[in-house]
Amino acid sequence: MTPFVLIAEDEPSLSELLQYNLEREGYETAIAADGEEALLLLEERVPDLLLLDWMLPKVPGIEVCRRARGRTATKNLPIIMLTARSEETDRVRGLDTGADDYITKPFSTTELMARIRAVMRRIRPGLSDDLLTVGDIEMDRVSHSVKRGGEELHLGPTEYRLLDHFMQYPGRVFSREQLLDAVWGSEVYVELRTVDVHVGRLRKILKTVGEDPIRTVRSAGYALRASK
Ligand code: CA
Repeated sequence: MTPFVLIAEDEPSLSELLQYNLEREGYETAIAADGEEALLLLEERVPDLLLLDWMLPKVPGIEVCRRARGRTATKNLPIIMLTARSEETDRVRGLDTGADDYITKPFSTTELMARIRAVMRRIRPGLSDDLLTVGDIEMDRVSHSVKRGGEELHLGPTEYRLLDHFMQYPGRVFSREQLLDAVWGSEVYVELRTVDVHVGRLRKILKTVGEDPIRTVRSAGYALRASK
């Protein structure tokens, strides 16, 4: 899974520099040159991170941030504000609106890249890893293979995505709604029961080697046992 970063910035020299640096580090990117385009692109595809310029034409950055936070799909989207303003009140306002971090222009790309990596690690610790390990379960995201106790398991695509999600957040309980959003996407209409069916299938496959690693939390959802 290549992390996807949306760059909302109206200065082409800066957006292209950011794009160059991000792609060199293995991110997939798209550029929105104004706030309206940013909102449109956010609707088309939810990025893993939004770099958002404060001073954007058409719809200002802070408004893009506010609207993104108001939509279910982008409610928890990591956002880094790029701002030319250095006044403390503006920073506070930006963070109040729901930005996760901000960086004041002019900034060095080295510093911004470090901030991006930090935000990505915090929000999705497993995102940049090719190999995930939880207990005796191993997932190789390059070859799309899953092993438990060294034995290869054969998962369907949905079970694979479910396990990938669980493995990014070992121990954390997810409701069926949250799993639906994360695995199927919020645009697709799927019944909640479908989540149970696929968790059931995943559980069955994982149980062919060892104990049941998935915990059912009554009226709350499911979690992958952290490890032993
Ligand atoms: Ca600008």
